[in-house]
Amino acid sequence: MPSDRYPGLAAVLDAIRREDGVTQPILVERVGLGRSVVAQRVAELEEAGLVVSRGLGPSTGGRAPRRLGLRADAGRVLGADIATNEVVVAVADLAGDLQATRQEEIDVTDGPDIVIGIVERMARAIVEETGTGGELWAIGLGMPGPVAYDGGAAATMPTMPEWSRHPTVQRMASAFGAPAWMDDRVNLSALGERRVNPLAAASRNLVYMGGGYGIGAAVVVGGQLHRGAHGLAGAIDHMPVPGVEGVVCGCGNLGCLEAVAGGAALARDGRRLAESGESPVLAEVLTRTGRIRPGDVTAAAGRGDPAARALLHRAAVVLGASLATLVNVFDPDLVVIGGGIARARAHVLAAIREEIYRRAMPAATRDLRIEPSAVDQEVAGVTGAVEFALARLFEPGNLPSVLDARLRARPEAAPGEGAGLTA
Ligand SMILES: [Zn+2]
Repeated sequence: MPSDRYPGLAAVLDAIRREDGVTQPILVERVGLGRSVVAQRVAELEEAGLVVSRGLGPSTGGRAPRRLGLRADAGRVLGADIATNEVVVAVADLAGDLQATRQEEIDVTDGPDIVIGIVERMARAIVEETGTGGELWAIGLGMPGPVAYDGGAAATMPTMPEWSRHPTVQRMASAFGAPAWMDDRVNLSALGERRVNPLAAASRNLVYMGGGYGIGAAVVVGGQLHRGAHGLAGAIDHMPVPGVEGVVCGCGNLGCLEAVAGGAALARDGRRLAESGESPVLAEVLTRTGRIRPGDVTAAAGRGDPAARALLHRAAVVLGASLATLVNVFDPDLVVIGGGIARARAHVLAAIREEIYRRAMPAATRDLRIEPSAVDQEVAGVTGAVEFALARLFEPGNLPSVLDARLRARPEAAPGEGAGLTA
């Protein structure tokens, strides 16, 4: 068996996934393999039930070429986005289109045993609810912190020791009988952005800022997610903000970005504005609901509350200054503002932009675009978790077991048929 067979299969499958309805001659151009090799790889993918014919494309003289597409309903993928204060779980088809989502509030400080237990319960319910869509092929998990890789597999979470020791990936894989992969949810949100937003998909060098209660950034360098040596690349949440040393961060240091401008900081400072009466809008929310959430601050600012607006503006200036540092370090062509702060974009995006332009090197900002996320923030992380799982599932190293399982599952397969597909 030629050693380039699985890379070839993966490349053909990847091109079909990217371009639904692609014709075989175009496919040959896209993957840069010979016509007969591509024809054979397509035949193998069709035999495994992964690729289907989508009718005929325009003829360029001879016989009209077939259009090819991914058989999206051949299986399902489970995505789970675990944030500091909530979990979103989704089931998607093999094209990555979400079929159903569920959301629950959690407290990540309850620890992995409890939180992953909740994720399992939510996942079982949603898998049952969408029960007719084929078996589960893969699981993608977004984690509320950096994830370090060891030999290509997620191994530890360097900033969360209790989560590092927990066998999250193995537990989910054995609970649902499908391979599971995990990554920092901010990285996954960036993948979700690249799936949905053409501007982000086209960017070769992208800085994505995201996060809910926390703040994080994902960095794409040369078209690839840049994770760094320990999965910590882009972990701006604990970057020091000059001049605010008095604010204690959850990590034990003083004046971290997250402690000054993160969701929990907005909630804390918003509560102070409510209690002091400086913000009548937030005072009303506190009386009515008994708490202040970051979204209450952005909503109050949206209603024109001056104190809430000033609070968000201050956060935006601090975020902009931190992003300016990333712009100088990574020299991106695009900065995308996602996460909770994206919901308040009218009030804060201008301030973030201004601060980046003011602080980053002019040569770095001359052609730089700074745009709000194009993804619904409720599902940005889980969209990326599904995308991540699909990308891992269809990698050359994992494709043999995928194809093997499909061929074994085919009741009509004749003895010996597909024997060449065994890894
Ligand atoms: Zn910190």
